[in-house]
Amino acid sequence: MKHIAFIGLGNMGGPMAANLARGGFSVTAFDLSADALERVAAQGAHPASSAREACEGVDAVISMLPAGRHVESLYLGDEGLFRHLPPGTLVIDCSTIAAHTARRVAAEALRHGLRFLDAPVSGGTAGAAAATLTFMVGADAEDLETARPLLAAMGKNIFHAGQAGAGQTAKICNNMLLGILMAGTAEALALGVKNGLDPAVLSDIMSKSSGRNWALELYNPWPGVMDNAPASRGYTGGFMAELMLKDLGLAEETALASHAANPLGSLARNLYEMHVRQGHGKEDFSGILKTYRPD
Ligand code: NAD
Repeated sequence: MKHIAFIGLGNMGGPMAANLARGGFSVTAFDLSADALERVAAQGAHPASSAREACEGVDAVISMLPAGRHVESLYLGDEGLFRHLPPGTLVIDCSTIAAHTARRVAAEALRHGLRFLDAPVSGGTAGAAAATLTFMVGADAEDLETARPLLAAMGKNIFHAGQAGAGQTAKICNNMLLGILMAGTAEALALGVKNGLDPAVLSDIMSKSSGRNWALELYNPWPGVMDNAPASRGYTGGFMAELMLKDLGLAEETALASHAANPLGSLARNLYEMHVRQGHGKEDFSGILKTYRPD
């Protein structure tokens, strides 16, 4: 596993591809955005002019695309990559998509003699840059072992969640919780500030108390509390609110399909729906704070 094609070089895929190149892999990269492609080429990847071209002669393909429809159109159909990859090629999709879509894509991969892993990630753009991502993998154990050196160049925790689609189910559960935690953290901070507290002092107190959580401690939504958080750079970069809305929608669909109750996930999805409709979809998801602090 030496020659890798990397498709989708956005906030996450860009630094992940750069880490593979830094780790000694030969990476051929493609993105629809010329800027994204240029940034990754400056960090050691070879730019290609199409996904097909990027995949010529590679041992493995990795994709990091926004949503299920992008993944399906990359791999499936007459123009899709599956028709063109040599049998035995390893295909790793790191995008967050529905588990049933991942299972359909995995079944198609198998029909073409390919090995497919759903391997969504957690850890944010900082984790992608520092190669400390958590991978949640749905695949055969043997295929995961083949993929492990690639994943290890981009992350530090690699979990085998189960067979095809299981990685996506784990990721959707995690992100439903994250959406709830971010909204709850913003609500608590806004309440404290409204009642005269300094947001940095309140964050410090709650970080050492029973309200502590990842959003509060590593991704604080209040501007200025944490220098390197998206909130302190105008909610730019990071994880777009429209992608969080997509993930909360996936959680809702999963709950409906399995007759599970998800009242808090559903509430968080509605909050993000209103937030995105108000024009904040491209901002980082911690901007949900604006719902509580519109001024
Ligand atoms: P992004 O929008 O920054 O990047 C997506 C990239 O894919 C863009 O550069 C876009 O041009 C490219 N693209 C779209 N269609 C393409 C195609 N057909 N061929 C080639 N390139 C194409 O999104 P992101 O933040 O990098 O997120 C990617 C995935 O990772 C999403 O599924 C998201 O839910 C998930 N995710 C994001 C984060 C985060 O913190 N940003 C964390 C974990 C998981």
